[in-house]
Amino acid sequence: MIPFVSRAKLSEQQVWIKYLSAAMPDEVFLPFADLTPEQKQQCDIAIVANPDPNDLLALPSLKWVHSVWAGVERIMNELSSPPFSIVRLIDSNLADTMSEAVLAWTLFLHRDMATYAKQQAKQSWIQQPMVQAKDRRIGVLGLGELGRVSARRLVNNGFSVAGWSRHPKQIEGVECFYGEEGLALLLKQTDILICLLPLTAATKGLMGQKNLSLLPLGASLINFARGLIIDDDALLSKLDGGELSHAVLDVFVQEPLPENHPYWRHDSVAILPHISAPTDPISASEIVATNIKKYRLTGKIPPAVDPIRGY
Ligand code: NAP
Repeated sequence: MIPFVSRAKLSEQQVWIKYLSAAMPDEVFLPFADLTPEQKQQCDIAIVANPDPNDLLALPSLKWVHSVWAGVERIMNELSSPPFSIVRLIDSNLADTMSEAVLAWTLFLHRDMATYAKQQAKQSWIQQPMVQAKDRRIGVLGLGELGRVSARRLVNNGFSVAGWSRHPKQIEGVECFYGEEGLALLLKQTDILICLLPLTAATKGLMGQKNLSLLPLGASLINFARGLIIDDDALLSKLDGGELSHAVLDVFVQEPLPENHPYWRHDSVAILPHISAPTDPISASEIVATNIKKYRLTGKIPPAVDPIRGY
């Protein structure tokens, strides 16, 4: 028996349980709320989607949990030293979905769609200077599962692409930077910055006044990672001052974005309701199934999130 632990509505949990059961017909899945006290004592694995940490701590035999989401920032934050491993979703489908969103919104900025929408509102006929894709410099922060595939997709579409990670990397067609010095070098040569970093102690507020100031005049930013990586006040001040031209934001400090947030009415901000790469429950369930079947056979827990580095 494997519990599904989530703060989602029971009806949403039942949908996940349906897909998980189809992918693993030999296992029994139950919402946490339906577990008997005996079952709580026994289970060694749980599937999680934004779980209440207290529910997980009520499962004393738990060895590992499998998140059905790629981002595990919230659970890592709420459980500072969990007595079990946390395995996140690594799904090539999700990376493709994210790279599609990255390409779509890069093209939106590259072909000045935001500017033409503003011009249309004023019935203004101005032809913006055409920039070739090869001359548009894209900087991707984070070259993990999502950043790497997104950077390659941009290369395949003719853009000039650089990327930044913690460790040195080699990715065909991508100029790779790492470490603090590498970040400054990348930012100084970036027209469109794409954030695909995890939220950790090291990345919280990373794109504040100092780092945003390193971007060339008129640069734009896309944040598809987590809201807290960007300092909202610093970004708004750069947009208001004209130093940055546009921001595409899919993630926010508070979601849904509060009604009175200045981003809503800012004509240089495009707001998306956290939709750049939603989990596909069918492919996610298949990946979870593969990992659980392997564990049942070998006792080996899949590679887990490192609680010290936070991702
Ligand atoms: P990942 O595979 O863990 O990759 C993280 C990348 O960030 C790695 O390249 C890592 O460097 C780099 N990094 C981490 N900390 C760093 C630091 N302090 N300095 C420089 N580089 C650093 O993560 P992922 O699967 O690509 O996902 C990234 C994030 O996307 C998730 O954490 C989540 O927040 C977000 N996400 C958003 C959506 C959405 O719909 N908006 C959907 C899914 C995920 P190394 O390679 O050197 O370790």
